[in-house]
Amino acid sequence: MTETTTHDVIVIGGGTMGTAAAWALARRDLRALVLEQFSLLHEMGSHGGETRITRQAYAESPEYVPIVQRADRLWQELEAESGEQIVVRCGGLELAAPGFSHARAARLSADEHGIPYEWLAPAEVNERWPAIRVPEGWDALYSPISGFVQTVPAIRNMARAAERRGVTILENSPVLDWGADSDSVWVETPSGRHRGDAAIVTAGAWAPRLLANVGLPLHVRRKTLWWQQVDDPERYRPDRFPVFITDSPAGEIYGFPLHGTPGLKMANHAGGIEVDPQTVDRETHAGENRDCLELAAQVLPGVRAEVVQSKVCLYTMTPDTDFIADRYPENPRIAIGTGFSGHGFKFAPAIGELLAELVVDPAARPIPRFSVSRFNGSGNRERAAD
Ligand SMILES: Cc1cc2nc3c(=O)[nH]c(=O)nc-3n(C[C@H](O)[C@H](O)[C@H](O)COP(=O)(O)OP(=O)(O)OC[C@H]3O[C@@H](n4cnc5c(N)ncnc54)[C@H](O)[C@@H]3O)c2cc1C
Repeated sequence: MTETTTHDVIVIGGGTMGTAAAWALARRDLRALVLEQFSLLHEMGSHGGETRITRQAYAESPEYVPIVQRADRLWQELEAESGEQIVVRCGGLELAAPGFSHARAARLSADEHGIPYEWLAPAEVNERWPAIRVPEGWDALYSPISGFVQTVPAIRNMARAAERRGVTILENSPVLDWGADSDSVWVETPSGRHRGDAAIVTAGAWAPRLLANVGLPLHVRRKTLWWQQVDDPERYRPDRFPVFITDSPAGEIYGFPLHGTPGLKMANHAGGIEVDPQTVDRETHAGENRDCLELAAQVLPGVRAEVVQSKVCLYTMTPDTDFIADRYPENPRIAIGTGFSGHGFKFAPAIGELLAELVVDPAARPIPRFSVSRFNGSGNRERAAD
């Protein structure tokens, strides 16, 4: 097998986080090689389906706020460099039925970090957005700086920005095997062996396989996305309708204004069966959107049962739903970015930057919340408190 030239850093997996890492490495003038098993942008992993919500009043934990703010600045830099819009700031509603906590947790994060929001009564929401009917007793937080990231221009422009600064991206180049010697990292693909001074592994749903030695407690979940027909499309335009996240007995249903595909995109962040990305059922089936329709019947009266389009996408979950972005145990030349647990896209450029720093700067400190060592071998979190 032929061995090609040595690179400063090899990135295994050129999806969301891999292209973000490539862009970050390029900004540091490093010669990086990205190996992607499919094409740049595909629907087999975790970035399919056109749009991803971005929000800063982060219900999951206030610790995420500085990271999403850094990512937001980098998305803006990428927009300026590429001349293309990446983030659509249509505002975002976080809605919670009585007894459900998401909206209140988002308010805590917003208060801690001074993020703009309005705490609205259901009647105020219904008056401002006529397509929405929030039942009495629900909590509602509106943040004007929320919106959605367009996945295609986001990934394409991170890749282009990296390539312009000398990064090589090889598509259709699956990594078959990889390992480390005392002073370098090697990677095998069908067309040859590559060497790097360092490596970043961002293999998404395939990480459990590529990182089997680390024994990370990851599992992959099958998720379905639905674009539902609506009565009056004009009411769901991004200038009239926000992204929304709901927390209710129907699940954690979220959705987007109409954008591109002519249907209201909805999905359930909760649930999904455990799968293997090699064998997962990639077709959707009648009835799999019943949770979305249950929520729509309560909150979105103009949403119809007819489906315009549907897709299957994969979450790579950690037990605590926090990310893994850390050095490989006992090998500081290698960084791992995985386990983004269905909420990683908005953070991508900041995560790419962190992974790049971890492999090139021995003094760079990982974020404890995202550490490999928080799992004590049994998949349990070691951190004492949230
Ligand atoms: C349905 C759905 C909705 C979501 N909604 C949101 C949202 O609203 N907001 C948000 O912030 N996040 C959201 N997310 C999460 C976000 O999209 C993911 O966290 C993010 O895309 C994960 O990036 P990744 O790089 O780990 O995976 P991917 O983007 O899938 O990239 C991994 C790449 O590695 C490649 N690869 C794997 N193995 C190999 C190999 N052996 N050789 C070469 N290449 C390899 C894969 O082909 C793939 O391209 C959602 C995810 C899904 C599935």
